[in-house]
Amino acid sequence: MSTVLSARDLARYYEVSQGFMKPKATVKALNGVSFDLEAGRTLAVVGESGCGKSTLARQLTLVEAPSAGSLMLDGVDVTHGVQKDVKALRAKVQMVFQNPYASLNPRQKIGAQLGEPLLINTTLSAAEREEKVKAMMARVGLRPEHYYRYPHMFSGGQRQRIAIARAMMLNPKIVVADEPTSALDVSIQAQVLNLFMDLQDELRTAYVFISHNLAVVEHVADDVMVMYLGRAVEIGSKASIYSRPLHPYTRALLSATPSIHPEDRQIKIKIQGELPSPLNPPSGCTFHKRCPYAVDRCKAEVPELRPLEGQQVACHRAEEIAL
Ligand code: SF4
Ligand code: MG
Repeated sequence: MSTVLSARDLARYYEVSQGFMKPKATVKALNGVSFDLEAGRTLAVVGESGCGKSTLARQLTLVEAPSAGSLMLDGVDVTHGVQKDVKALRAKVQMVFQNPYASLNPRQKIGAQLGEPLLINTTLSAAEREEKVKAMMARVGLRPEHYYRYPHMFSGGQRQRIAIARAMMLNPKIVVADEPTSALDVSIQAQVLNLFMDLQDELRTAYVFISHNLAVVEHVADDVMVMYLGRAVEIGSKASIYSRPLHPYTRALLSATPSIHPEDRQIKIKIQGELPSPLNPPSGCTFHKRCPYAVDRCKAEVPELRPLEGQQVACHRAEEIAL
């Protein structure tokens, strides 16, 4: 197996204004996340909005440098940004966004937009680029005549196919997909997810698949990382996370997903209250105000992520809860 992405204690802090004459506050949007991703595998990153998923995506796609920790991309240390071979490195990690329309240029034909990465990053001739673009278009289910059309002439599902084709043009090692199907009709979602998976089988691309939708995640993931207020609270294989979640927050998320394994005898958990402000996170376990299992220790002591039964979990009471 080859590791294409390796994060250690990755963190990103933002200074935010609290108003006139008030001191700035620090938001720990990403607060020490570690994981490895192998070629050809999918790590799903799950959590409510505000948990740090999109901040993580910006670190992984080199849009922002981390505030702390380290990040290796295909064997290159990119923790402090990229000094040389920026182009080559950026080509290795591509992004697919939630809204495909926003990521396409409305005034440029699809063929030209798909050819652009090849124009910038390769020495291929115009004819060779066109051939490659048309091959990729066919691969994602577009027709040759689509080459000459503009983005507004496509449906949402087709536009996302175009965005995926563009991400794949340079055969990247990693694709970070941020809620790539949540703007699509349910009937189209499965087709687009299947396209992601077929391309992965063929090209061995590694995916970081960001989603709040556990039904979608169950379809695509090999491994799952559950995030809460900037931290990973549970990491494990899809099979173990779905059949035996160890963290109360993971259990609550699964309990709130109606379609998943209704036959399971698992104890249902309801999350109480709202996601706390990241400006003023609760002490100890940041989930304690919403957790039905919370005890005094949870208010005082931050639970570290630790191995348990083949998974990793950050909860003081995980053993008791697993019973
Ligand atoms: Fe709940 Fe305590 Fe575990 Fe946090 S550490 S998830 S509050 S039981
Ligand atoms: Mg987001």
